Amino acid sequence: MMFQTRCAGCDAPGVAVCTTCRFALLGPRPRTGGHGVKAAVPFTGRARDVVLGLKYRNRRQVARHLAGLVVNRIVAEGDHLEIDAITWAPTSAARRRARGFDQGELIAGYVARQLGVPCRHLLERSGDDHTQTGRSRRQRLEGVTFRARPGLDGRRVLVIDDVVTTGATLRSARLALARSGAVVVGLYAVASTPSGVASIVRPTERRLRPVTHDVAA
Ligand SMILES: [Zn+2]
Repeated sequence: MMFQTRCAGCDAPGVAVCTTCRFALLGPRPRTGGHGVKAAVPFTGRARDVVLGLKYRNRRQVARHLAGLVVNRIVAEGDHLEIDAITWAPTSAARRRARGFDQGELIAGYVARQLGVPCRHLLERSGDDHTQTGRSRRQRLEGVTFRARPGLDGRRVLVIDDVVTTGATLRSARLALARSGAVVVGLYAVASTPSGVASIVRPTERRLRPVTHDVAA
């Protein structure tokens, strides 16, 4: 019974993402919303369960599988031909501490590996650790802002995030990269919520107990 692998989506024993869940992830891709972010799967139903399962189970295998779906979308859009580097929109320090990892970074790493391009840490959140001080009311309402590494002149960068809702995070990331001279080739997410509805609620933490092991990649 030790270290039994269970499906991240439906909890069935066996593999990290079972055949039924893999099949469910191959449904129609979400339409690109007004925010311009292209997502691999909708953040609904089985796909949503798998994305949330990334937090609890078989992290690397699930991340690798989801990254493969992002890669498929990037290739379908033709954006794989023009990339110098992949980067990600970093999560908050508090969330990263609580989780022990950054989902965006994890996915970006696998996407980069599968595309054979470097994954680079190019973005930092602005005003992250001194909660909200120095930020105007307008900035707070508009959400997170980023600083990009300087001197990215002409570098073609593709940005990855885990779940896109309004697209504000990735838009901020694009703005910061553009200010540093980068050419943003595309904004991609693993999953997008239907029509920008803010529905990133916890999955009632239901039967998915956190597991302490993580199968090595
Ligand atoms: Zn399953």
